Amino acid sequence: MRGFIFDIKHFAVHDGPGIRTTVFLKGCPLKCLWCHNPESIGKQSQLGFLEHKCTSCGSCVRACSSGAHTIDSDGKHIFDRSKCTLCGKCATVCPGKVLTYYGKEAEVEEIVADVLKDKDFYVCSKNGGVTLSGGECLMQPDFCEALLKRFKEENLHTAVDTCGFVSKAALDKVIPYTDLFLYDLKAIDSDVHKRCTGQDNAVILENLKYIDSLGKSIEIRYPYVPGFNDGEVRKIGELLKGLSNITRVKVLPYHNYASTKYKSLDMVDTLPTVIPADAEIEEAKSVLRDMGLCVAD
Ligand code: SF4
Ligand code: SF4
Repeated sequence: MRGFIFDIKHFAVHDGPGIRTTVFLKGCPLKCLWCHNPESIGKQSQLGFLEHKCTSCGSCVRACSSGAHTIDSDGKHIFDRSKCTLCGKCATVCPGKVLTYYGKEAEVEEIVADVLKDKDFYVCSKNGGVTLSGGECLMQPDFCEALLKRFKEENLHTAVDTCGFVSKAALDKVIPYTDLFLYDLKAIDSDVHKRCTGQDNAVILENLKYIDSLGKSIEIRYPYVPGFNDGEVRKIGELLKGLSNITRVKVLPYHNYASTKYKSLDMVDTLPTVIPADAEIEEAKSVLRDMGLCVAD
């Protein structure tokens, strides 16, 4: 079986316990204003172009049979996206990684072989293993099921990083083969959620309760974005207090490092401008701790 991915990251230490390999699947149903992986949102391939790093060497001009790249008489590189058919050839010849191609079809066994290269590291780090992430990996539920099934056959610890805006049928496919869910919780108030992500959160809250009711371990990820969802701390705490299998809560301070990536992909930059102060994050963590939750440092 084949799926559509955009990256495989080895030695990941923030995507679940221990040392892990994270497989990033392409496509996401939400449009979070603060998304730091804009290349993950679209289901189709994309070509990133970091114009400010281009040396006008001309390799891409020669590689592209569509005429999408030209160097003008002043030596300036002009990239005409309307001519690009997303074949990806230019990215393979660009010497400075100015061009990056996001999106690749991959076979289950190809990914399993890649993940297994680091098996010794998973074994010697506590609960290390493999994480499926995105985008929203569960937009490709059959592919996720096939991958996770194979990882369990190899006795690997498995985690699924999800925004929760998926069908119950998709969840049911992966639940038997998933040791830990990394579950994004952006807001409890539906209007706040809609404003921040473009979607209502009823399905997300239902799915969270559903996974919890099945006794599956869940780590909550709360991206803290001042002026958007910073008023949700107590509401999130109240909901989580009523659940039984929340292993811990991670408050993730918003950052705007992805700004260059939006530009390189010719996507509208929706990143908020205000970065949270350390004290604000510590306050949010302390509120959640005082509500009896285990909160990551
Ligand atoms: S991806 Fe292919 S068609 Fe698009 S600019 Fe590069 S070489 Fe040309
Ligand atoms: S190959 Fe890369 S560095 Fe060379 S002109 Fe094209 S984008 Fe610029």
